[in-house]
Amino acid sequence: MAEETIFSKIIRQEIPADILYQDDLVTAFRDINPQAPTHILIVPNKLIPTVNDVTPEDEPTVGRMFTVASKIARDEGIAEDGYRLMVNCGRHGGQDVYHLHMHLFGGRQLGRMLASK
Ligand code: 5GP
Repeated sequence: MAEETIFSKIIRQEIPADILYQDDLVTAFRDINPQAPTHILIVPNKLIPTVNDVTPEDEPTVGRMFTVASKIARDEGIAEDGYRLMVNCGRHGGQDVYHLHMHLFGGRQLGRMLASK
C-alpha cells in the first residue's frame, strides 16, 4: 500500500489549498510555489504514486486529467496562447510528491523544454 502524501489531505479538504475543480475522479488546485503566472496541479483523487503505477483501469481517470486541464486552461484564459502540461516520474524525472499529478503551466512564453542536460 503506497503511503499518502499531502495531496490526499488537499483532496479530502483537510488542509487548505486553492481548489479550482473537483469531481469524482480528479482534483485541481494552484501550486503553492508557482513557476509561471498560471501553475495548477491536476491530480487523481485515488492515490496513484507515479506514472509507473497507472493501470488500464485508471484510463478514465487519466483521460479526465486531460479534459480538466483543457477546461481549466480555457477558464484561466490561456487556452488560445497555449500552455504546457508536464508529469514528472521518479527520481530522474524530478518528482517530489509521490501522488501522480499533471502540472499545467501558462500565462507567459515558457522556456525550453528541459532545464539541464
Ligand atoms: P513534482 O516535483 O513532484 O512534479 O511537483 C510537486 C509540486 O507540488 C511542486 O510544484 C510543489 O510546489 C507542489 N506542492 C508541494 N506541496 C504542496 C502543497 O502543500 N500545496 C500545494 N498547493 N502545492 C504543493
